[in-house]
Amino acid sequence: MVGTEDLRILFDAVCNSLDFGSGFLDTEEVEALRRLAETLGVDPMVATPSEFRAQYAHDFEPCPPPPGPWRVSTMGGPIETDEAYAARVAAVIARCRHCGRAADERPHTLKEAA
Ligand SMILES: [Zn+2]
Repeated sequence: MVGTEDLRILFDAVCNSLDFGSGFLDTEEVEALRRLAETLGVDPMVATPSEFRAQYAHDFEPCPPPPGPWRVSTMGGPIETDEAYAARVAAVIARCRHCGRAADERPHTLKEAA
């Protein structure tokens, strides 16, 4: 008899695999993983590789801000100013971490939430 704990172990193994998001899962497998996530009480987006995320209903979540500002010149370039860094952060966090679209490009789905 397969228990919830076994399913959770396999779920985590797949979602944490280095191959996850490398195109190794097809749509049928992603659908199954998302159903499994719901069964396990996990956010289905966790089980959705990035190339599939735009297909599913999700709330806009900003991309994590980039590190910086650069205080040391690299490759002979200029040291990044606070203003330049702020502009870089603003450009990144304006994008959805799930689908890469801007916050005001609603809805963040290609199909309606069930
Ligand atoms: Zn999105």
